[in-house]
Amino acid sequence: MIEGPAVADTAALPDRVAVLIVGAGFGGLGCAVKLAASGEQDFLCIDRGAEVGGTWRDNTYPGATCDVPSQLYSFSFALNPDWSRSFSPQPEIQDYLRTVARDSGVLDRFRFGVEFLAARWDEACALWRIETSAGPVAANLLVSAAGALSEPKLPDLAGLDDFDGAVFHSARWDHRQPLASKRVAVIGTGASAIQLVPAIAGQVASLDVYQRTAPWVLPRHDRRYRRLERLAMRRVPGLQRLLRALTYLGREATVPMFIALPRLGSLVSRSALANINRAIADPVLRAKARPHFALGCKRVLISSDWYPALARDNVELVTEPISHLTGDAVVTADGTARPADVLIVATGFQATEQPIADLITGPAGRTLAQVWAERGVQGYKGSTVHGFPNLFLIVGPNTGLGHSSMVLQIESQVAYLVDAWHRMCRHGLAAVEADAAAEQAWNADLQRRMRRTVWSTGGCRSWYLDASGRNVALWPRTTYAFRRLTSRFDLDAYRQTPVAGASADG
Ligand code: NAP
Repeated sequence: MIEGPAVADTAALPDRVAVLIVGAGFGGLGCAVKLAASGEQDFLCIDRGAEVGGTWRDNTYPGATCDVPSQLYSFSFALNPDWSRSFSPQPEIQDYLRTVARDSGVLDRFRFGVEFLAARWDEACALWRIETSAGPVAANLLVSAAGALSEPKLPDLAGLDDFDGAVFHSARWDHRQPLASKRVAVIGTGASAIQLVPAIAGQVASLDVYQRTAPWVLPRHDRRYRRLERLAMRRVPGLQRLLRALTYLGREATVPMFIALPRLGSLVSRSALANINRAIADPVLRAKARPHFALGCKRVLISSDWYPALARDNVELVTEPISHLTGDAVVTADGTARPADVLIVATGFQATEQPIADLITGPAGRTLAQVWAERGVQGYKGSTVHGFPNLFLIVGPNTGLGHSSMVLQIESQVAYLVDAWHRMCRHGLAAVEADAAAEQAWNADLQRRMRRTVWSTGGCRSWYLDASGRNVALWPRTTYAFRRLTSRFDLDAYRQTPVAGASADG
């Protein structure tokens, strides 16, 4: 693995490219590598951050680790035999992404520190006119790989601005703030909080964890790979692919628990309850930590040190709702004020809103956000949207997973858009736009499948659901089904605009 950031060219932006990619995380990088491998070299990837990595660059909180097994958390075309553990820590994933970027030879077409400001479809020229903090650029295709979990969501708490101590979000960790011997408050008990709380509990004076909903947390079964195992993965042909395939199948086998047979979850929940009982002796704390919704309704978390952390003498799990903040304390609804020097907000992301949608304006002069506000957040195959020609979304609506690796979905979407571009070139097409009927049929089928899932029936309110309760985040089938459905760009589901002077049959 290489040390330090994979730094790219700082040259000015070109006036025009075939494909403009926004975001240099797994999605944007995968897209760049696959476009280049397919023979299309005319692309540009911009990112407001300083290097590749996306969410794995931004989430540097103590204890940040992937909760998907390492063997599944890499591109299929760039397996990593060097993972040190069965669940990879954030710095290793970030190093992995730097290495892929460097080795694939695409970094000269990445521009960092460049913010995407707006994009407007130019109907006459069939181009996206894009404004960035480094100037304008035009593109035939616009790919949003900005990530569904990139914009932190701050809680709307009275007095938050009056708090005198340090306040930061888990995804914007302030490493300059010393935590040793400080009184720390953490708001939230989701995927990020259950990792960072055990990582800091041992160094702080006191730690108050404010819980709104107790999560389901299964034991993690993480372990360090032995040197011999790593050597075997590197040297024995096919071994790592076999391990990956077995892990993949194991994950796919859990899909019925989420989509059709939520009762299977009650078997799994025994393991989660045992996880509580093993670590916590106090019956009052046990009761507070016990979830009250069906397992799987929210993301199933994994940790073997969350409950031991809650059982520590210097940690208090507070379940009374927060009323407000004062200059030096968090006050709960029962009037108790708990003093704090540092407030860590682990309250998740603007996941269903996708803030980039405000910046993209289609031919009708309306933004993607405006269209979604009327129609609901939806797309065709999670990748394109009716009314927005030549726009491709990576991790678009209903592509998220509750059971496996998002890298699998990202690779399916990348294959779909790369195929789209080459078909457009072959058929002499200037623009393709998802058909309204195809999009409606796709979403009707998705929402019909959603009805029986644990995400809809499990008795919880999760970030998967929009304000109307519609699940706009998750894919309610196997990743294999998604791969099959996106394996080839289905031109017949698109309105096609030929290049001026060309015939649509090319
Ligand atoms: P999250 O799962 O959305 O959790 C947010 C937490 O904050 C929840 O406990 C939520 O309570 C609480 N909360 C939100 N607003 C609040 C308020 N106003 N007052 C009190 N509590 C409030 O966010 P996250 O933990 O950052 O994780 C988000 C997603 O990122 C995960 O679902 C996962 O997909 C991804 N992630 C992945 C990994 C990984 O290892 N691969 C690690 C971290 C995150 P409620 O439950 O009551 O809403």
